[in-house]
Amino acid sequence: MKMAINLKMMLDSLRYTNDSLEYAGIQDSVIDNKIREQFKKHHLVAATKIVAEIFPTIFSAVDDVNNILAPDYKLEVYVKNSADFQASCFPGVDNSISVVLNSGLIQLCSVDELRFVVGHEVGHFLFGHHLYPRVEEMQNQVEKLNILALLRAAEITADRSGFICVKNKENAFKAILKLATGLPDAYIRFDLSAYLRQSKELQNMGGDEYSLLDTHPACCTRMRALLWFDMSEVYYEWVAQGGCAPINSCELNKRVTRDLSLAIGFRLSEINKKEAGQALFWGVLSLFISDGCLSKAEQILLKHNFGESGMNMALDYIREFGPDAVINKFESILQSLRFVDKKTKKVLFENIEQFSKLAGGEISNIESVLKRATQLMNFGNESDR
Ligand SMILES: [Zn+2]
Repeated sequence: MKMAINLKMMLDSLRYTNDSLEYAGIQDSVIDNKIREQFKKHHLVAATKIVAEIFPTIFSAVDDVNNILAPDYKLEVYVKNSADFQASCFPGVDNSISVVLNSGLIQLCSVDELRFVVGHEVGHFLFGHHLYPRVEEMQNQVEKLNILALLRAAEITADRSGFICVKNKENAFKAILKLATGLPDAYIRFDLSAYLRQSKELQNMGGDEYSLLDTHPACCTRMRALLWFDMSEVYYEWVAQGGCAPINSCELNKRVTRDLSLAIGFRLSEINKKEAGQALFWGVLSLFISDGCLSKAEQILLKHNFGESGMNMALDYIREFGPDAVINKFESILQSLRFVDKKTKKVLFENIEQFSKLAGGEISNIESVLKRATQLMNFGNESDR
């Protein structure tokens, strides 16, 4: 892309750290041009294109966002006749970005609030969120929960991208409150701190585990994330605001991560930790059984590291299903950890590597187990580990 390097760097600074396939060590894919054409045709049939002649106010808001976030793209916005407060974004044809806004959403928002909404959607495109794996395609629950966490993280970045598009910051906060309630100005006396008490209340109650299944963070959590952003050096740089920002970007991301985790009661990290523990057990067993037998010394090591029950489970499993089934079991657990953060996977792999030194039998058998584990955990290349 010919996007100015400076703008590209500025945009990258908006990305919330956990919003990235890189976070899980996975490469992006691309969207075929044929699919883009199909989408455009669908919009031309089912929606109405925002042009300056018919919708001058909306068009000017769209034009502003186009210039701020994506001057090298052509932003094409469509309005769809629907009362749902929804918007979506997709890569368009010929270097364009296509955004669809439902009419209910437009009616609810002021022009400046629309800048936030459009900026948010364009952010989804610029940060490649349309390339993220689909939740429906995930094979198991742990994979699914981690992709959902990735999608919630993506909303944080998209909100930041909307935030830098508004003329008055308060309108970004108001847009979120309107999206949360579906209520227009007539019913709202905007009081940010009063609304944020809701997020504290949720945290004090230990978070909500069902939120693990949501594609979006709670609106009050999103609002807090924007407030942290407003105080950050990243934002100060974007708006060329003088003075010293209260928090640096590392602190910004730390606070957001904490809020997101608190909202679900830290349950995802518990689930991932448990799954990584399972993977370690089956990984070690795969290494030990790679020569076809579990020696006395290996049984003692299993007992020492995974308890008597772990050792008995290993023996029962091998007796019932045979040694080959062990590696299959290990591989299926590794599959479920694909989208877990790189750090967790790195620690797991290092632990497995340590155990590999204790396994008996042919070195080539052990190496093949390790190689398979590397591939399945999507480590990419060796140096990336
Ligand atoms: Zn979004």
